[in-house]
Amino acid sequence: MRAEFEAVRRWLAEAERVAVLTGAGISHESGVPVFRGQDGLWRQYRPEDLATPQAFARDPRLVWEWYNWRRSVVARAQPNPGHRALVELEERTRDFTLVTQNVDGLHERAGSRRLLKLHGDLWTLRCLDCGRESVDRAVPLPELPPRCACGGLLRPGVVWFGEPLPEEVLRQALEAAGRAQVFLVVGTSAVVQPAASLPLLARRAGARVVELNLEETPLTGQVDASFLGKSGELLPRLVEAAVRS
Ligand code: NAD
Repeated sequence: MRAEFEAVRRWLAEAERVAVLTGAGISHESGVPVFRGQDGLWRQYRPEDLATPQAFARDPRLVWEWYNWRRSVVARAQPNPGHRALVELEERTRDFTLVTQNVDGLHERAGSRRLLKLHGDLWTLRCLDCGRESVDRAVPLPELPPRCACGGLLRPGVVWFGEPLPEEVLRQALEAAGRAQVFLVVGTSAVVQPAASLPLLARRAGARVVELNLEETPLTGQVDASFLGKSGELLPRLVEAAVRS
């Protein structure tokens, strides 16, 4: 039988080890578009046709125009109550890990510290020639495509479709999922691998898995509790009780 909201509040209040996986949905209420929704479209392109090494090789300027747009949206956005509730949960949980697929930096801006970024960061640039990474927060970037001091082409420091995840970050995420007593899955369509397999791994290792999303996902039938709604409303309610009890 599915657990009720009150039971999940209690699980969170009692757990010593909690892990959380977030996706684009947690930043939606901050005004950042998700990929799999109407507002995820930029011009006539689908993200799947721009966020790939092939798209960048074909037309780096076009891909950078899209990233310039995404960077400008995120630069104007502020963390919302969902991001802040996770900071509160971190402060009160002995062993807490936040794993995010987001590249927007809103978790850091809210104050999350134990954070694993599976898909990199919109503000990091990496040289295709010398491999050097740099941080550039200019919005918009003045020259497209941007160039490294060595003359090489710079690419966004994010993980594109079809690319492997940073090995050490993934290792730590798998470990956190394996030892969690409660695992929250928030605002992800749960279709991008390997992130989508973390909740199932956690469950097999004994965690109670709780999903928060606007709608059902491929995970919904396999979790211990699922609540439909906005993460910016659900998370503060779940965490508030955990804090007070
Ligand atoms: P997705 O776009 O595939 O799915 C978003 C999910 O969030 C959907 O299931 C939707 O129902 C849910 N959602 C939307 N608003 C919500 C809300 N207010 N509360 C709760 N749930 C809500 O995103 P994904 O699963 O993260 O995977 C797509 C990839 O896109 C990731 O790799 C990520 O790196 C990238 N991405 C990142 C950002 C960002 O950094 N903010 C934005 C778009 C896409």
